[in-house]
Amino acid sequence: MLTAPTTTHPIQFASDNYSGICPEALDYLLKANQGDVPAYGDDEWTQKAADKFRELFETNCEVFFVFNGTAANSLTLAALCQSYHSVICHELAHVETDECGAPEFASNGSKLLLAQGDYGKLDPAQVERLITRRNDIHYPKPKVISLTQATEVGTLYTTAELAALSDLARHHGLRVHMDGARFANALVASGKTPAELTWQAGIDVLCCCGTKNGMGIGEAILFFDKGLAEDFAYRCKQAGQLASKMRFISAPWLGLLETGAWLRNAEHANRMAAYLEQQLREIPGLNILFPRQVNGVFVQMPPSLTDELYRRGWKFYTFIGSEGARLMCAWNTTPAAIDALVADIKDAVGSLPGGLP
Ligand SMILES: *Cc1c(COP(=O)(O)O)cnc(C)c1O
Repeated sequence: MLTAPTTTHPIQFASDNYSGICPEALDYLLKANQGDVPAYGDDEWTQKAADKFRELFETNCEVFFVFNGTAANSLTLAALCQSYHSVICHELAHVETDECGAPEFASNGSKLLLAQGDYGKLDPAQVERLITRRNDIHYPKPKVISLTQATEVGTLYTTAELAALSDLARHHGLRVHMDGARFANALVASGKTPAELTWQAGIDVLCCCGTKNGMGIGEAILFFDKGLAEDFAYRCKQAGQLASKMRFISAPWLGLLETGAWLRNAEHANRMAAYLEQQLREIPGLNILFPRQVNGVFVQMPPSLTDELYRRGWKFYTFIGSEGARLMCAWNTTPAAIDALVADIKDAVGSLPGGLP
């Protein structure tokens, strides 16, 4: 009999996509594994999951399912742009830093224009400067504002901030794309409804969290402006993103939505991150880098500390400057795992020559 490979720590903090499939998603996956059903999304699971999205978001949106977030973002941006257009995003945006040029590839060359802004959020003044600084034929015409909710550094846009960016977009004839790889985390943390956080705040398209929330595979794409979804199914098919056994993506989605697990999972992950943050704040000299609003805690760690934690078997990313460690919680993070990590951090800090700088 095969057993899972053992790692030093059964729960890690590298990413919310280290986690397995949550029980509700798995339950619906198994339920969908009975008998034959039509392929390519012409099945009842897919119909029901799409309808559930429309009900929860209180609007008659177009819903698509693809394999992962890179595909969701890239194909969506390609649908919103011609090749000579450009997309304005934050310099830390996943579409810029972690998609290997897929948005440009999928759109045949639409260029990403990078803006800055505190706490991983687009600064409207900077966005406006990028939109208006040129209007000649030599500059790729800005067509989309892409923002991430919750952001790559674990912060939230308020609905007022979203509205300010989408008003700016409307004013200049741009569209607004939301990368919602952690949309549920943002939703429960904000206390807003799905509608308030998206189309009512001027968002045209949402790429919605599946994998990081507790699925095995699969993201949903919601077009609130249905006109933008014209021919999108062809784009998915051409890009190899049309699952023939679609029900194995859509049924787990239905499981998350129908049982409320997507919200419970997000709430749990956020709560675990709050507990982790609270524990870390008790370590003198350890610096938390961003206000924690969802399921990630960003901590300043000297390389000697990072190396010592890696040596003790912990896995996490450092991608904010050279000393910014990201510790992510997921639906399955336990207080015991946090206690074990924090104990190791305390111990490692204690053994650093000279302590924390
Ligand atoms: C994880 C993530 C994605 C999706 O990444 P894939 O690995 O392609 O599924 C998209 N955006 C953000 C902000 C993410 O964190």
